[in-house]
Formats: sequence, structure tokens, C-alpha cells
Amino acid sequence: MKKGKGIKIPFHKPFLTKDEIPSVVECLKSGWLTMGHKTEEFENKFAGYIGSKNAVSLNSCTAALHVALAAIDLKEGDEVIVPDMTFSATAAVVTYFGARPVIVDVERETHNIDIKEIEKAVTGATKAVIPVDFGGQPCDMDEIVSLAREKNIKVIEDAAHALPASYKGRTVGTLADMTCFSFYVTKPLSTGEGGMMTTENDEWADRARILRLHGMSKDAYKRYSGHGSWFYEVTDAGFKYNMTDIQSSIGISQLKKVEWMRKEREKIAKKYSEAFSRECALTAPFVKSDRESSWHLYTIILDEKQLNISRNEFIEELKNKGIGSSVHFIPLHIHPYYRDKLGYAGKTFPNSQWIYERTISLPIYPGLSGGQTDEVVEAVLDICKKNKK
Ligand SMILES: *Cc1c(COP(=O)(O)O)cnc(C)c1O
Repeated sequence: MKKGKGIKIPFHKPFLTKDEIPSVVECLKSGWLTMGHKTEEFENKFAGYIGSKNAVSLNSCTAALHVALAAIDLKEGDEVIVPDMTFSATAAVVTYFGARPVIVDVERETHNIDIKEIEKAVTGATKAVIPVDFGGQPCDMDEIVSLAREKNIKVIEDAAHALPASYKGRTVGTLADMTCFSFYVTKPLSTGEGGMMTTENDEWADRARILRLHGMSKDAYKRYSGHGSWFYEVTDAGFKYNMTDIQSSIGISQLKKVEWMRKEREKIAKKYSEAFSRECALTAPFVKSDRESSWHLYTIILDEKQLNISRNEFIEELKNKGIGSSVHFIPLHIHPYYRDKLGYAGKTFPNSQWIYERTISLPIYPGLSGGQTDEVVEAVLDICKKNKK
């Protein structure tokens, strides 16, 4: 393989510092490695931070979405509405039940699911909608929840990007029937792998707690601690979806600085948007005035009418300048599974297609220095200038 020039500024780097390391060491020394007191502490602190009644930890956001759909008793033949512009996990979980992910188009400006498209897609078989907070910007949650109430369907928010984020002054995690977060390595809070489901509904939370650990009626740690005995009952064909105390120890440390990390990303976003506002061939992300993004992603849209360079070439040029970037997302309907197996070939999603063809995600994370942010700005503006029509 040809050796490229080194990447000086990677697209993403998790922000792990001296806070996380002693927490993990303490956990290892305690001798209790998997789900136990640390996981309980993480869940309690997470619920407290969000302001939700229940927080159920899981080993991924995918697992959280899966148990959330199980909690509402999704069945074969049911339908769940999902946006085209998302990561495949949002839709894949629906197929686990033999149910159908009904893919709908998004708004051009926010890249979030379009309420009008949800309205058109609801049928008698619809059981839920999974709005995805793209890049960390909350969807139109009031409109979505009120439509869902009217149609008697549930709202399971995919907030993999949205920690912390707020909507009309309310925290994401309290807006939908259930909300699923990701602690994957690239996400705003990272435990390597991990996830959390928040809900006000105790029944759904209990069902998720049972399903995440073999369908057992009690958590293993309660079995071995003073709370119980050797006895347990399997009440469901559950999964192995629990978090570990090692992950939770990282999570507890990360949770303390989620606000600070968001502010760091917001500063970078402001700097980018300010600089790019003077370049008419670029559109910066648009956030509606009644909500705050977590700024998990910073995506620009290229105006092909003003540029002599394709999106893919633009990414290559950034790479040549030592800057990593990415594309969010390859729309669901383009992936062979959804296109060929689920019958989305020939279906059109004009906005998500339009976004996909023009978008680039730039580095945005705490630890990206001011100088590095300037370098990214300079590189992007330089590529635009050199490739003007
Ligand atoms: C990352 C991501 C997921 C999956 O999260 P995991 O924790 O890796 O399972 C789901 N939805 C969206 C929108 C994501 O970006």
C-alpha cells in the first residue's frame, strides 16, 4: 500500500485523561469487574444528571434500542419509522423482531427526521418512531411526541449523539418515551463500548433490566450481595447486554465533564462557523433557535455550483493536508441490505441523498487545540479558494 502523508489532525480522539485512569485502577483493585456497585452508581448519576426517573445501562446504544423495542412488545409484521440519514443500527434493531423499518426522508437544513414525512408514513401497523438527533441537535420532539400520542405509537429517541443536548430548555433523555445513548469510542461520553436507556416508565425500565442479563429476574450482583441468595428465575429469553464496572468507572469520570466537553466542542463549532460564513461555497450546520446541540458532529455542505472539486476529492485534499474527516451518513436506502433485501431500490429520499452527496464532517472534540482548529479552517478555505469555478 502506498504510504500517504501522515494524518496530523485525526477526525476523532476520545478525551481520556488522568481522571479515568485511577477510577479504572480502583475498580480493578476492588476485584469486582462486571456489573455491580459501580454500574449502579453510574446509572444513578446518569439519571440524576439527565433528570430522568430511570437509567438502564447496556453494553451499546444498539442494545439499548433493541431492549426498548422489546419493552413495547414489538412483533413480527409491525412497522417502525426511522430516518434515512442515520447509522444502520437505528434500523437494524427493528429487523431483529421481523418488523419493518419504514425509512423516511429528513429535513435538509437540520438533517433530522421530517415530521411531515412521519405523518405520511404512519399506518395501522406502525408501533413506534425512532427520531435520531443528528450530530447532537434534538429533533422536533414536541411535534413528534404529539403526533405519536394522536396515532397511539411510541417514541424511542436515538440520542447516540446528543449528550448533553436540550430542547426548549428540557434535557434530551426526558423528551421521549425512551431515549437511547451511546458510549462508543467516538461518542460524546465514551466508555469504549456502552449505552444507556432513560425512561420515566418503570415497567419498561424493569423489562430492559431483565432482558439485558439473560432474562433473569434479579441482577447477578444482587444475587451475590446481601440482597439475595443463589436463587434466580429466568422469565424471558434475555440477552447478554450488561455494562461492566470497568466501563462504568470510566463513565462516572466522563460524566463529570460532559458539560465542559460540550463547551469545548461548541467553541470549535463557533470558530468554524464564523470562518466559513465568509466562504459562500460552504454551508455551516444550522441549529434551530429553541434547542442546543451537543455538537457531536460539525458537518459542512459544499456548493457544487461554485466548486470544481467533488466531495470525495475534497476529503482527499484534506487528507493530503494531514486532516482527517468523515461522512455522516451513508443513507440507509443506499446500503445493499436495505436497498436489495428490504426493497428500497428505486425509492427516493431527495433530502438525505442531497446531503450525502455534499457533506463532510470535520474534526470536533475536546483536545483539538486552537491552533489545530485554525489549521482545519485554513485547509478548508484554501481548498475552496483553489477550486473555485
Ligand atoms: C453510534 C450510533 C449508534 C450505535 O451506537 P453503539 O453504542 O455503537 O451501538 C446508533 N445510532 C446512531 C445515530 C449512532 O451514531
